[in-house]
Formats: sequence, structure tokens, C-alpha cells
Amino acid sequence: MEIFAPYELTHAKKLDATDTLPAQRANFHVPQHAGEDVVYFSGNSLGLQPKSAENALQSELKDWAKHGVDGHLKARNPWVSYHERFTNGLACIVGAAPNEVVAMNALTVNLHLLLVSFYRPAGKRTKILCEAKAFPSDQYALASQVRFHGGNPAVDIIEVAPRKGTHVIEETDVETILHERGDEIALVMMGGVQYFTGQWLDMNRITAAAHEAGAVCGFDLAHAVGNVPLALHTWNVDFACWCSYKYLNSGPGAVAGAYVHHRHVREDVLPRFEGWWGHNAKRRFLMEPNFESMGTAEAWQMSNAPVFNMAIHAAALDQFTAIGMDALREKSLRLTAYLEQGVAAVAKHNNARLEIITPSDPARRGCQLSLVAHEFGRELFEALTDAGVVLDWREPNVIRMAPVPMYNTFADIARFVQILKSATLPH
Ligand SMILES: *Cc1c(COP(=O)(O)O)cnc(C)c1O
Repeated sequence: MEIFAPYELTHAKKLDATDTLPAQRANFHVPQHAGEDVVYFSGNSLGLQPKSAENALQSELKDWAKHGVDGHLKARNPWVSYHERFTNGLACIVGAAPNEVVAMNALTVNLHLLLVSFYRPAGKRTKILCEAKAFPSDQYALASQVRFHGGNPAVDIIEVAPRKGTHVIEETDVETILHERGDEIALVMMGGVQYFTGQWLDMNRITAAAHEAGAVCGFDLAHAVGNVPLALHTWNVDFACWCSYKYLNSGPGAVAGAYVHHRHVREDVLPRFEGWWGHNAKRRFLMEPNFESMGTAEAWQMSNAPVFNMAIHAAALDQFTAIGMDALREKSLRLTAYLEQGVAAVAKHNNARLEIITPSDPARRGCQLSLVAHEFGRELFEALTDAGVVLDWREPNVIRMAPVPMYNTFADIARFVQILKSATLPH
């Protein structure tokens, strides 16, 4: 079958060979299909395994075998302070100061712990403003927090939805709600990058509007971290949390992260659920009865570090530190545009009703494109899967595709466009 010139494999390979940031493909394990690498577009769901993960994990297992309990101090990366390995790397990735971030727990757990501190309904100000159709776990977390405080989610959760006939949340609409009902809103809590549509919200603007209305503002960065450049501190975001198994490639169920703005860390007056790993590290083992805060985001940390899981996280983060988010973002813009144009070319050529519901403005999205194939979505998804493309289906009708700048290539996209073209041929 003839294929559009820009999507000839030879052309795509030339793009790969001459790109200013070569794909780190060789540093990852890529699943196989029919003797070839799959086209892996699911890095927004579970990132690929860095080849360095195995040694990183082995080395902690060996230290445990060799030292037993003494590994807390004698391991090559002493376990007692293991979480400190992440401070600088995470601070760079989310745009924060080192004392504003901590790697701990899992995402939904961190969301709850931060809501304990940051959602404090009082008087008339009881409501949470969030995006409509947020990721289910976030919806459950918000609703259960509202009920925990004696509220009613049907009343106390206000959702901002895309305008009729569109898929994109307008920041203006968030501002309007905050203008009109700001005195009822205690908290604005949204996904930085929306998991379903791939829309990247203007987090700076939303934070400013929330603060102007007297509300607190936090973000779930599950789909933003490692995908788009972030400046949480500069944007004045109050708190945020994320997982590290999506774009951060740290493995299934890997340790998550949390950010708390310096002003809250410094003042240290917020209510908080506390544990011994949030206690002043210098006095932690004096086993004193009263909690003395670390005075950093680590004050929210409760338990000692899950070292095996963190060993992989550290290996995965090293790759981000080595390249930097700016270079990754530049590459990401090139890859996603290439994919977007390929889908458009196929739609036109095959007269197929393929609609990308992700904003077309690159400034309003990360790498993910969400595709709706009208009338034949499920069949198309299955045909793509059978041909060796890994992507995911999100009810009711979306195929999510994420060309990840760390390891995806122009050749991946060219192969995909070829597969999409045959899968959408008019019957
Ligand atoms: C992936 C994702 C989660 C998953 O939560 P876990 O606690 O890691 O299981 C939650 N919220 C959002 C927005 C997500 O994208």
C-alpha cells in the first residue's frame, strides 16, 4: 500500500537519526509482537521498564542480604534516608524547591493526606471546584472527603465541564464560577493534564483565580508529571500529587510523590496526619512522645521508605535528570504534531470520521492525543491492537495514544499511521 511521503519508514528513520534529542529507546525494554517491537503508545498508563531498573533493584537486594538491619546505615544508599534521593530530581521535574517535594505512598493516598490539610470546609466556604469527569479515583477521594466532613457531594462538589459540543474545559469558565460563587468554594482541585482528553489546563491562571476567590488550589499531576514542564512554586500552587508509573517509568504501583508550597511548609500550621518519618530526622530515633515537624514537605511523610520500589524510581528519574524536561518537551512537541498530522492525513484519504478531541493548540496539551473513531471505535481499537499497537480504550469511545518523548520514535508513528491507514480503509 502506498503511504503518504512524510510517513514513509525511511523518512521517519531519517527524522529519528537527525533529531536533536535521540530517543532513549535502547535504554528500555520494549514488548514484542510478531518478532518486532510493538508500537508502544501507552506510556501515559504504564511507562516502559528502564533497563537500569534490574541492577538498581538487585543492588538493594544484595545490600539487604549482606547487611540485614545494618543496611539502614551501611547500604550503598542508606535506607534510613533513602527518600532523600528524590528531592532534587523531583523538584526539577515539577518546578519546586527541594524542601517542597517528597516521594511517598501511592497517588490516591497522597491525595487524601493532602486533602486532610488543604480541604477544610468552614462556614459558608464548604465546596470543592473540580473538573467534570475527573479520574474516578479522584472523584471518590473528593466525595469521600466531603462526606467525612459531614457534607453532601451532590451539593458541595461543583464541576466545571466542557461547553456544549466541545471537549475542552475553558479556563474562563473556571474563572467565572470562581467570580460568581467564590465565597462558597474552599478548594479548587483539578487534573493538571486531563486523563481522558489530554488537555493541559493553564495551572498558573487557575491557581491565581482560586487565590483571588480566597480558595486553596491543588492539582493531580498523574498525567502531567514527566510529560509537560511544570513550575508549581512559581505558579503558587498550594499542593499537588502524582504517580510515577506513568510518564516517570518507575514500574507498576511505584512510589508516588507530593508537593506542598514553601509557605505552608514554613508556617507549619496546617492540620496533618502524622507519622514518625515526618518527625525531625535529627531526633527521630530519640523516640520522643511529641511530634516535631521536619519543616519540609517530608513532614507529610509517615513511614520509612519502600526501598525496593524506590530503587527503580531512582533509576528511572536519573534519565529525566540527565535530559531535562525542556529538551523532552521540545521533542514531545515534534512527535505529537507528527502523529496528529498523520491521523489527519489518514482521515482525509480514507474519508474516515476520526476526531482528535485533545486541544489542537500544543500549549494546551502534553504528548497524549485522544482519538474518537465515530461509528467504529471499538473495532478500530481491536484492529490496531491486533496489528501490534499498544494503546488504550477509555469508555465510552476514546482511544488514547501517547507518543512519549523518552522512548518513542518517529518510526513508531510512521508504522502506526500505516497501520491506521489499512485499518480504516472503507470496506
Ligand atoms: C492514574 C491516575 C490515578 C491512579 O491512582 P493510584 O492511586 O495510583 O492507583 C489517579 N488519578 C489520576 C488522575 C490518574 O490519572
